[in-house]
Amino acid sequence: MINKSYSKKMNNKIVQLLAILMTFSACMTSQEVPKIDWEELGKTEPWKATEVYEPVPPKVTPGKWQEAPSDAIVLFDGDDLSQWVKPQNDYGVNMEQIEPMCQLMFKTDWSGRAPADWIIKDGQLIVNQGKGGIETKEAFGDVQIHLEWLSPVDPEKEGQQYSNSGIFFMGLYEVQILNNYENETYVNGQVGSVYKQHIPLANASRPPGEWQYYDIVFTAPKFDGDQLVSPAYLTVFHNGVLTQNHVKLKGPTCFIGEPHYAPHPAKLPLSLQDHGDAVRYRNIWIREL
Ligand code: MG
Repeated sequence: MINKSYSKKMNNKIVQLLAILMTFSACMTSQEVPKIDWEELGKTEPWKATEVYEPVPPKVTPGKWQEAPSDAIVLFDGDDLSQWVKPQNDYGVNMEQIEPMCQLMFKTDWSGRAPADWIIKDGQLIVNQGKGGIETKEAFGDVQIHLEWLSPVDPEKEGQQYSNSGIFFMGLYEVQILNNYENETYVNGQVGSVYKQHIPLANASRPPGEWQYYDIVFTAPKFDGDQLVSPAYLTVFHNGVLTQNHVKLKGPTCFIGEPHYAPHPAKLPLSLQDHGDAVRYRNIWIREL
C-alpha cells in the first residue's frame, strides 16, 4: 500500500518533470530558424565577402583514359629513354648509408651520368635485370605521377622475388611494385605499400601478364638547413583504388632498421628499381606541383 508521504513525493517529482519539459519546449520555440530577408541582403551582398577569384586554376585538357594531360612531362611514351639516365647513386640499405648519401647529393654533378640501359621492346620499357635502376634526367620535388606496369607471368617465383621493382621518389622514398595477385609477402612490403612504412588500404592487384597502373601524389620533405620543416607525404591509387591516403613518411626507405630524415636537396631525380625481375613499364608521365 502506498503511504501519503510517498504519494506527495511522487506528485512533486511529476510537477518538477513537467516544469523541465515546459522550459525545454519554450527554449525550442525561442530557437526557431531565422528567416532570410533576401531583399534587404541584396542591398549589401554580404556573400561576396567570402568569394575567392584568384589564383585562377590553369586549364588542363585531360588525356584520353590515362594519356598524359597537356601540362605533363612525358617520361616514357614507348619511343626512347631520352628522359632517363643511369643513377648517380645506388640505393642505401640503412640510415648509416643513406645519411652520408644525402649529404653528397648537395655536391653532386648530375651532368655526367651515363645513358639509361633498360630495354625498349614493342613500345614497352623493360628492366635490364641485374644492370641497376634508371633515374630521371630532371630533378623533382612535389609531383603527381602516372605509371603503368606489368608483372611477367612466372609461377616459379614467390614473395618479394615475384616481379619486384619500385618507384623511388627523389631516389629515396619507395612505393613498392610487386606481383601480389595470389602471392603473399609482408604487408608493409606488398604492392601499394610505402615500403616498410605504410601497409596499403587495399590489394587491387591484377594477375601477372595484365597491365596495371599507379597514380601517385608525392609531397617532398622540406628542410631548413639541417632542420626538417615538414615531412614527406604520399597518396597512392593502384588501378584506381586508394591504397595510401596522404600518409606521412618517417624518412627515406630503409631495407634494414628504422628511418629518420636526413637533409637533402629540395629536388632530386626519381628512380625506378631493378630488383632482378623483368618488370615492364609504359606510359609514364609526371606533373610538377
Ligand atoms: Mg621494390
